[in-house]
Amino acid sequence: MIVVMRPGSTQADVEHVVQLVKDFGLTDHVIVGTDRTVVAAIGDKRNVDKSAFEAYAAVEKIVPILAPYKVASKEVKSEPSLVPIDKNATNVIGGKKIGVIAGPCSVESKEQLLEIAHAVKEAGAIGLRGGAFKPRTNPYSFQGLGEKGLELLAEAREATGLAVVTEVMSIDQVDLVCKYADVLQIGTRNMHNFNLLQACGRTDKPVLLKRGWSATLDEFLLAAEYIINEGNQNVILCERGIRSSEEYVRNTLALSIVPAIKRESHLPILIDPSQGTGHAYMVPAMSKASVACGADGLLVEVHHDPEHAMTDGAQSVTPATFKQMMEDLKPIAAAVGREA
Ligand code: PEP
Ligand code: MN
Repeated sequence: MIVVMRPGSTQADVEHVVQLVKDFGLTDHVIVGTDRTVVAAIGDKRNVDKSAFEAYAAVEKIVPILAPYKVASKEVKSEPSLVPIDKNATNVIGGKKIGVIAGPCSVESKEQLLEIAHAVKEAGAIGLRGGAFKPRTNPYSFQGLGEKGLELLAEAREATGLAVVTEVMSIDQVDLVCKYADVLQIGTRNMHNFNLLQACGRTDKPVLLKRGWSATLDEFLLAAEYIINEGNQNVILCERGIRSSEEYVRNTLALSIVPAIKRESHLPILIDPSQGTGHAYMVPAMSKASVACGADGLLVEVHHDPEHAMTDGAQSVTPATFKQMMEDLKPIAAAVGREA
């Protein structure tokens, strides 16, 4: 349920309500909006006496949360959430500006990473993506450079100022990845790994959560809920395509999730047109479509030598294509009231 505070409620009023929530054995999430503060009370409400809240003068009303997800839902917070992607919150995802995070699928070497990082920065990206731990279908495929890859990402951040977004695959990698990354990426295969979601929820890093390739919207938002419930409200959703019977694409990019998420949740959503199609030639068109349908940004694979990329070369655009694409996004963003 949501306890809606009256406009002008004081910090002490909010603390009083938070204490009541705790007294009933529920978990509190205080959400400060532009015109009012609400306290979401999550947990088993069978023994909750609502009149205890209603009797308190600073409480305006109690509203049940109907959606299965609670703190991720729009019922709890109607304004969009802005998620900072770097320590100083210089760049956010979810604001007027379309946030583009770009870089190679995998970190391969210092030269490779720095060349791509400088190129995407110059073209207007705000974050650098790159996998150091790669979830590969085939155990004999390149698995990523591990900690060495993380060190290179940190070097690239130093050199460019870009925020580093990189995948964490297991709970035992969380501390290590946190040492180097600005944003923790949870991959499509791990969206249902509830213990990993919780472990990332206990960190102070924003989390980029990819939708499972066969997960429903409810399952996606419930996965986000696992992270938020641990105290980390900085969740960025990412659609990366779903499995279908199509063969001309690697995945089917389900852009219709964007308006649906916008209706259901306050969390920002990015589109990954690279995993989402599997083909570099489709990436510019689907990026434009993503911005047009209301996505808050993109996660794009860029490689200076796609033919020799160790992973996902076929879906990686070159720096030149990326630069052109970033230009082409500008009028589309403007047409939907955004900026690119
Ligand atoms: C990736 O971003 O390179 C990746 C492995 O993504 P996903 O988890 O969406 O397959
Ligand atoms: Mn990839």
